[in-house]
Amino acid sequence: MYENSLIAMEYFLKEVNEIHWLKWIQKDIEEWITERSTVHHLSAYGGMGSFNDVVICGANNHSIPEGAEAWADVIFNWLKALCYFFAKNPEIEYSLSDLKEQIGYHDASLSAFVNGENAPDEMRGIFDNRSPIQGWRCLNCGYAEVCDSGINRYIAQNIVPAYLFEACVSNRLVSTVRGLLYLNISNLDHLISNAKQSIDESGILIRNREEWMRPCPSCGSNNTAIYRWRFSGKRLVADKDNLPLESKKGP
Ligand SMILES: [Zn+2]
Repeated sequence: MYENSLIAMEYFLKEVNEIHWLKWIQKDIEEWITERSTVHHLSAYGGMGSFNDVVICGANNHSIPEGAEAWADVIFNWLKALCYFFAKNPEIEYSLSDLKEQIGYHDASLSAFVNGENAPDEMRGIFDNRSPIQGWRCLNCGYAEVCDSGINRYIAQNIVPAYLFEACVSNRLVSTVRGLLYLNISNLDHLISNAKQSIDESGILIRNREEWMRPCPSCGSNNTAIYRWRFSGKRLVADKDNLPLESKKGP
């Protein structure tokens, strides 16, 4: 599993053109094959400018398939979590439930998000509601918005780990990474349209902006903030960690 996770990481870094770390991972693979050593790989994670500091995005000159900007860094981070996990116990063959439990994945139902009975079998049980969806909120009047990349990132956060864990145990990690990176994901349109419907029904606007949402486009107040919601059934509810609204309004 360790070697396969490195091979998948090598594939990913080659695809996005992250050359420095591609060479690093290739050395890790060589050390593992020739010496059964994980020392070089585990040394990637410490200190300034480490593997943990890498952000996969177009602004960092990575080549990312069209439409996958919100997905690439999520895929990278979960792949990295796998490589690190396997490097610590490289001889163990884990089961899917081991991975779900030990890499922090809580089994949750897709039905929290899509109408349960409409969810195709292959998508059941792989949806996880840990990650919030992020957008902007006016703390004065309660006006709320999220953008398409926030929606995509949210969906990616919730389905990428399940896809990768499944792929680890069924020994098809590279093809799964390829499928995720090129958005060859069954049911993706359905997931996006369901998310958008829930957002809409929760009174939150979907609007794309480059700049900060300040002032508020509704009331003109400068008291705006980044805001997070979580799905509860088909509705979005404000995360507890948000700054409080001046008066209690909306979702
Ligand atoms: Zn406002």
